[in-house]
Amino acid sequence: MPVIGIDLGTSNTCVGVVLDGRPQVILDEKGRSTLPSVMALNRRGQFFVGHLAKAQMSINPTGTIHSAKRLLGQKYSGRDVQRLIPELPFEISQLPDDSPGIKLGDNVLTPTEVSAAVLKKVKVLAENALNEPITNAVISVPAHFDNFQRRETKHAAEIAGLEVSRLINEPTAAALAYGYGANTPGMIAVFDFGGGTFDISILEIGDGIYNVLATGGDTFLGGNDFNNAVAHWAAERFNNKYHFNPMNDIAAHQRLLDASEYVKILLSTQEKAQLTLQQVLPDIDPSWDLDETLTRSQLETLCAPLVERALTICQQTFDSANISIADINDIIMVGGMTRMPLVRRRVTEWFGRAPNTTINPDEAVGIGAAIQAMALDSIQDNMVLLLDVLPLTLSIEAAGGVCIPVIAKNTKIPHHVSRIFTTSRDNQNSVTISIYQGEGHHISENSRLSTFELTGIRQAPRMTPRIEVSFSIDVNGILSVTAIDLDSHQSQSIEIVDLTAKALDVLESEPVVQPE
Ligand code: ADP
Ligand code: MG
Repeated sequence: MPVIGIDLGTSNTCVGVVLDGRPQVILDEKGRSTLPSVMALNRRGQFFVGHLAKAQMSINPTGTIHSAKRLLGQKYSGRDVQRLIPELPFEISQLPDDSPGIKLGDNVLTPTEVSAAVLKKVKVLAENALNEPITNAVISVPAHFDNFQRRETKHAAEIAGLEVSRLINEPTAAALAYGYGANTPGMIAVFDFGGGTFDISILEIGDGIYNVLATGGDTFLGGNDFNNAVAHWAAERFNNKYHFNPMNDIAAHQRLLDASEYVKILLSTQEKAQLTLQQVLPDIDPSWDLDETLTRSQLETLCAPLVERALTICQQTFDSANISIADINDIIMVGGMTRMPLVRRRVTEWFGRAPNTTINPDEAVGIGAAIQAMALDSIQDNMVLLLDVLPLTLSIEAAGGVCIPVIAKNTKIPHHVSRIFTTSRDNQNSVTISIYQGEGHHISENSRLSTFELTGIRQAPRMTPRIEVSFSIDVNGILSVTAIDLDSHQSQSIEIVDLTAKALDVLESEPVVQPE
């Protein structure tokens, strides 16, 4: 039974497999290699996932969920979710455990459940294509995903009926797709510009060993921002003409974003495109149409600052890793936005060399996940060894809210480390261990992963008990922390809070959606 590899993307999901030593993506019945990571509910109360869900998004913006990956493993009260709420057309509420709940009709779904529905869809797709049941998968995650986000990805797979053989970092997967079957040692950069996020990674490849040297990125920089830039440009013209801003109307806003994305994609292959939208606000004035010509060079002017932001992140990542651009042997382009000519041109200028164009930017990560799946599945000599690094520093809170680093950012994983801590008061019989993730020196700058209490510490003057705290990160990048009092042998480990998620009954065949 083959193990599949899945690129569970924010915008699109791709599934790959290695058959007879040949890595390939699994195409759907219409020959498409990716599936929109979109879920919707129709008027008959049926859930559906994929192309049709995306196609009806502009007429059903509040009943269509996209970008669920951006909410996965996040706290509702956290900065990222708060920043996302105004951007997303569907309603997000706070669940009792502070995870975000997504409203879909009368249902409130967790991002995990939505991701599970997408995974279930590609599982069935793979089963139909391969004519075999599929029970295991390697799933890729962004390199910057923290513990919670990784755990929820695994959890989503479980709900979908898939056991996760391994989580693999997206840039590592892309590098695997690049390095497979070729003898290409050296240092490469993976430039991944997707729908919602930008990531840059520097890897070293040699003798089947893939070593991530550094990663950087921005989780709020992606194709959506390009769509937004075009939509704002068009909205301003519309507003000048009719004195009404279509961005202030939920339905018009979503339709405008869709049309903007369409025009943006057209302008990757043509010099000029027409942004047309009929009856932008049918219930105000049905004669208000939008019809504007946008040229590639106008699009480039609108979007140049976004591309420059990505390059600034590249600069910072190279600087902080102390790597010179001249040492890079190849640049792998991943993600739909790297198809934009401006992006390719600026990457070429910035790196001083043309990027590699032999790898399909939509398929590289799914193919790489499939190669990893094959490697785990076989005990042959085509085994590839992966070394990944910790994306953010892990630390423990000490007196005064100071973060004491335990494992530094960019440490290779799997990794195990123990440190001895002590008490700050006489006869202190318990200690609270709070684990933080991030580069700040104070807890207010970092995000808290977990807190637990170690009780039963031997009565002793301050500074004398010896409490050993061990951090173990497994191959999937999942952390477990144990604290033990070396005198009383009392010990305690992090409790993993399980967010209960229910499996959704998703239609396997897509229903025809009735237009509103
Ligand atoms: P993710 O990793 O977030 O799932 P993808 O790698 O699938 O995302 O990239 C999706 C983004 O790429 C979208 O914003 C989409 O508009 C954009 N995109 C896809 N094809 C093109 C193209 N030919 N030209 C410009 N942008 C494109
Ligand atoms: Mg992606």
